[in-house]
This record gives sequence, structure tokens and C-alpha cells, in this order.
Amino acid sequence: MGMNFEIGSARISDTMAQSERESGRETLLTNQWASVRAKLQQEVGDVEYRTWLKQVSLAGQDGDELTLMLPTRFLRDWVSKEYGSLITSIWQTENTSIRRVDIRTQPARGTAPNLAEPASNPVAAVRPEARADVIAPLDQRFTFDTFVVGKPNEFAYACARRVAEAPATQGFNPLFLYGGVGLGKTHLMHAIAWELSNNPRHGKPVSVAYMSAEKFMYRFINALRNQSTLEFKNELRSVDVLMIDDLQFLIGKDNTQEEFFHTFNALVDAGKQIVISADKSPSDLSGLEDRLRTRLGCGMVADLHATTFELRISILEAKALRAGVDVPAKVMEFLAHKITSNVRELEGALNRLVAHANLFDRQITLETAHEVLHDVLKAFDRRVTIQEIQKKVAEHWNIKISEMSSARRSRNVARPRQVAMYLAKQLTSKSLPDIGRHFGDRDHTTVMHAVARVTALMGTDAAFAEDVELLRRMLES
Ligand code: ADP
Ligand code: MG
Repeated sequence: MGMNFEIGSARISDTMAQSERESGRETLLTNQWASVRAKLQQEVGDVEYRTWLKQVSLAGQDGDELTLMLPTRFLRDWVSKEYGSLITSIWQTENTSIRRVDIRTQPARGTAPNLAEPASNPVAAVRPEARADVIAPLDQRFTFDTFVVGKPNEFAYACARRVAEAPATQGFNPLFLYGGVGLGKTHLMHAIAWELSNNPRHGKPVSVAYMSAEKFMYRFINALRNQSTLEFKNELRSVDVLMIDDLQFLIGKDNTQEEFFHTFNALVDAGKQIVISADKSPSDLSGLEDRLRTRLGCGMVADLHATTFELRISILEAKALRAGVDVPAKVMEFLAHKITSNVRELEGALNRLVAHANLFDRQITLETAHEVLHDVLKAFDRRVTIQEIQKKVAEHWNIKISEMSSARRSRNVARPRQVAMYLAKQLTSKSLPDIGRHFGDRDHTTVMHAVARVTALMGTDAAFAEDVELLRRMLES
């Protein structure tokens, strides 16, 4: 059935269903897990905890064996090797019945039959024999062709295109792409790599090394252990284009940062292109050495903004077309309204609808969408509450939270109140009347007006738009 994108949201529902089924024993285990985590964090420190251990989740206990999960094989191997015995011993102090701690990777996400891991291929064009280890596999779906361009990402897209056409052009080196989760950073990086590997320059193939900062760190630490750092350095310095994804994970690792910095300088000096992605701009990345920060910011810095309704609709249309499925416009609007956090979640929801329709041989309608995505939408509601939105917005503009429900209409409280209503509409799946009730029992038309007003203002006042986006990001993270 020609459908090959990934389900991102099935997991949410699984976890929810699970938690609803939680028995007393499981609650006990969950509490113990919380305490184990706290101890781990204390033991290894904040940075290491955040880098490696935060993503570990508890799967369950079976007799004297406890199972923990990690999302990738790489993480699993690393965590087992580096922290396995520490985790086990902390667990044993917490729960004496545990003898063994098993660390596994999450089973394939989702339950529908067509949800295999995304197809991926190494960049075969690029002297693979030399560098199979440096080059992470690229995802075949992540090309410029499949990237949908709209206001929030057009600048980043243009920069990526430019780099793919003419690597190491003055002013575009390094290219630093940043933005929240699931907004297309990795997609754009892979697209550049594909493009370059398909179009040899001056008759020579272009060699591209793409890897996550996590992998970079892992490789570097391994090289240190095996006393093969020189080879590692040479390997890296022999590429034409070096891409490091999710640089935020390099933070706080002093000697890897140092090594990265030197590699970086050597490559730029030799006229090679560097492409970096991170979740924040160079100036906002904390834990980064100043000279590295300066170097990172001295090329082109491009931001992938949160998606707009229009972009979400375009993306859904493109994905449905590619998958060869008929999704009614009403359903796409529904999805684009409800799932605003990022493109990955949006794709996940669409996938789920399509899988469901195929499985039960049913048409996709607004009703089936409500039904199939019920739990996903509920999970979104759980993430951000209207109260949290009101609190953050009030803090941001320095007004009392009670002003959110007060009758006062002076500009300095009315505007933040409107922004809070706007964000409530965007980030929760509450109805307009429901939102109105949270704001001093206001009418749903007031909420509608607020949403329209904020949308319009964001179009004309860039500083205001930035404030609102900032708030949205804070609330979503
Ligand atoms: P990030 O690296 O920023 O977290 P990804 O690049 O992994 O995000 O994107 C998440 C998913 O959303 C991918 O499947 C990607 O193809 C898709 N995606 C993101 N932005 C777009 C876009 N503009 N057009 C098409 N697909 C997109
Ligand atoms: Mg990414």
C-alpha cells in the first residue's frame, strides 16, 4: 500500500492505556523507579544523566528480572556498557527481590502491520568502503523533493539548497540549522547529503560524513580508549562535508568539544563545508565553550520555526498524495488544528488514520478520525493545561495570573489574555466555549476574536510574533 512513513503517536496511547491498567504492584514499581532515577542522577551528575539516562523507561518486572527500555540500539549498548552495573546495584538497594536488570530497545512502535523502521541506506556514492563507520545511514525519504516549504521553514530550506548546490560558499559555512523537535532539521541535513552525493562536483564524488553528536562523542571516546584518535581525526578531516546532528548532546563533554572544535577548524580552513543542527541557536546553547560558540555562529544561522496551520495542511496534502490515499479536506483541517506540536506527530497521526482505514477497509472520515485519534488528542491535552498556559503568559508579561479571568480590558492585560487564549486553542484540544470558561467565563466569540487578533498581529509585528513563538516553545518542551 505505497505508504512508508512512520507512526509517531502510537506510543503515546500505549503508555496511556498501560498507566490506566496499572495495578498496585506496578505503582509500587513505578515509585521505586522514580527513586532509582533520582539516585542515578545524583550519582552520575546532571549532564550525563540528561545525555544518556533520561530516556531510559521502565518496562516491567518479571520474577526477579527487571526490564528497562531505550529507544535506540545505540543507546541501549552504551547505557548497558557504561551504566549497567550501577543501575543494577541501585535497583537492588531499592528492591531486594531484583536479581537482574535487562536493558532492551523499545519494540517497533505502533501496532499496525506496515510500520517497520524507516527505510534507510548508506550514502553509497561516497567511497563507502573507507567510511562506513563515519557515515550514518541516510533516510531515503528525507530529500528536498519531499520537504514541504512554507513560511516557517523557507529560509532554512533556501540555505540548505544553497549549501547543497555550492558547498563551502563564503557566508554559508558553517550552516547552523536550529529549531524545536520534529520540525525538519534532520530531514534537511539528509537532503543536503543526498543531493551532494548524487551530484559529483568537478567530476569528483563529494564525501559527506553525517552523524549525530551522540555518535560523534561515542566514536571519539572509543578512539581514545583504543588509542586510535589519530585515525579518527584523519578520517573526519578527509571528508568534504561534515554534518553533525543534534549538537546539543555534545554539551558539557569537554574533551569531545575540544576535539570537535579542532576538527571543525581544520575542515573550515581546508575549505570544507560544515552543517550543524541543534535545538537552540548558538548563542542560546548553554554549556558550549565560547570560542566554539563564536565559530558556530559565524556562518549562516537559520531557524526552523514552529509550523503554521497552512504549512501543516500542505504537509498533510503532500504526505497523503505520496501515500496514494484519499484524505478528505475536513479531516486534514481537523488534524492540522489539533496536532500543532511538530511534523513528526502530525505524520504519526495521519499514518495511524491511514493504517486504520486499510486494516478495517474503511473510508477515512471525520468520525473515524475522532475515534482513531481519541487517545492521541487526549494525550496532547495532558501535555499542556490552560492553567499552565495562563501562568507562563502572565509571567512573561509580568501581570497577575488573576488578570487572565478578570474583567479588566486595559491593553496591558487584554493582550496577554488574548495570547493565552490563542495558545490554549493551539496547544490543547479544548473547545472554544471551554477555553472561554477558563478565562472568567467569557463567551466563545471572545476567544475566536482573540485567536484572530493574535494571528493578525503576529503577521504584522515580528517582535510580538517572536514572543508568542517563544511562549509556545516553552510550553511545548
Ligand atoms: P528534527 O530533526 O527537526 O527533529 P525531522 O527532520 O526528523 O525533525 O522531521 C520529523 C519528521 O517530520 C520527518 O519524518 C520529516 O520528514 C518530517 N518533516 C518535517 N518537516 C517537514 C516538511 N517541511 N515537509 C515534509 N516533511 C517534514
Ligand atoms: Mg533530528
